[in-house]
This record gives sequence, C-alpha cells and structure tokens, in this order.
Amino acid sequence: MSEYWLAMNNDTNATLCDKRLLLTCPHCGAKTAATVISTPRLEQVHRHKPQKVIGGFMCQACGEAIALRFWTNITPEGRLYLSEEYAELERKMESFDYQYLPPSVAADFKEALTCFSMSCYNATAAMCRRTIQSVATDLGAVGTSKVSKQILEAKETAGLDEQTFTEINQLVLDGHDGAHPHLPVVTASRAAVVVAIMKDVLDQIYARRARIQKAADLRQESIAAKKSE
Ligand SMILES: [Zn+2]
Repeated sequence: MSEYWLAMNNDTNATLCDKRLLLTCPHCGAKTAATVISTPRLEQVHRHKPQKVIGGFMCQACGEAIALRFWTNITPEGRLYLSEEYAELERKMESFDYQYLPPSVAADFKEALTCFSMSCYNATAAMCRRTIQSVATDLGAVGTSKVSKQILEAKETAGLDEQTFTEINQLVLDGHDGAHPHLPVVTASRAAVVVAIMKDVLDQIYARRARIQKAADLRQESIAAKKSE
C-alpha cells in the first residue's frame, strides 16, 4: 500500500499548503505542479474519520481547479496523514495513434486507455492483458514472445527496477482471461507505467514497421513517377 505524509496537524495545515504535486493537468495537458487551494476541515475529519478526503488544487500552468482524492490516516493526537498515491477525479483522455493496429487490438487498447482515463486501474491492467491476448491471436505462435521481448526492451530503455518489471510482467502477461483476483492491486502510478509500456510495445510491434513501409512505398512511387516523366 501507499506511503503516507503528514498533511495537517492540530495547529497548522502548512505542510499541505506547501505541498507541490507533479501531474498532468486534465485541462491544459501540461505536465506541471499543482498547489493546494482547498483543504479538508480538520475538525470535521476528526469528527467523521473519513477513509478518503478530496483536496482542491490549482494548475500552475493554466490556473484551473483540479480535484484529487487521497486515502487518510488519522491519529488520535489530531494529525491527518494523506497517501502518496491519489486518484485524479478528472483526467485528460489518454490518446494513441490507432491507425496501424488491427481492429481487435485497437478496440481492446482503446478500452484500456478509457479505463485509465477514468482512474479504474485494475480494469486498465485487465484490458491491457486482453490487448496482449489480441496481439497474440493476431500474430499467431510468435505473438506472446514478441510482446515479452518488447516489454524487456522497454524495461531497458526506461531503466525500470526489477520489482516493477516483475509486477508489470505479472499484470500484463499472466493468465489467459481478464479477471485474476490473485494479482496485485494496481495503483495509479503502476497503471501509468503499464500504459506507457503498452504504448511503446504496440508502437514497436505495429506502427514502427508500418511507418517505415509507408516511407519506402512513397520512395518507390516517386522513383516510378520520375521514370515515367
Ligand atoms: Zn492546466
């Protein structure tokens, strides 16, 4: 589970007010810092002991309001700790260039990105698994090993640590159906890594070859056009 940080105690909410969170703004799309504007009322937090609270932040790039939901840890002495992991109530819709993907792969991956954009992280991982199964069906016997090889390449490019790499493999390659209750719970940050790796894997398997092919075709066409001049 997530780490916690001290956000407010009886005397002050200075820690929360000083907190800068780096995120992608759902309004302007900038990767930027968000500063807190609205904080929970501490006396109400102690009275009702909510499992989660929402903080109101402001995008430093465009000034729009961003709502974030945190898990709480409330101590008897009156301290409020918030989780490092948080859910963004609004996210920018994740995009991908689907034109080079076979329709079955594109449909599954679109749904994976919709789940991610809606902050449904376990569903994101489940749909990524299904996307990989569609890739395997599309490519035949070599499909799964091709995907494994690309994930390994992505790991080396991004410098992922062993634990993250093992978890990602477990999340996206294990099993043959969408639902696996024994799999680890997927956090926001883990889902973000899974999505980034999936984008890279699909790009390498489908889009890269198609782009090179397109460039080669264009060259052939221009040679043919010159000959017929
Ligand atoms: Zn913004």
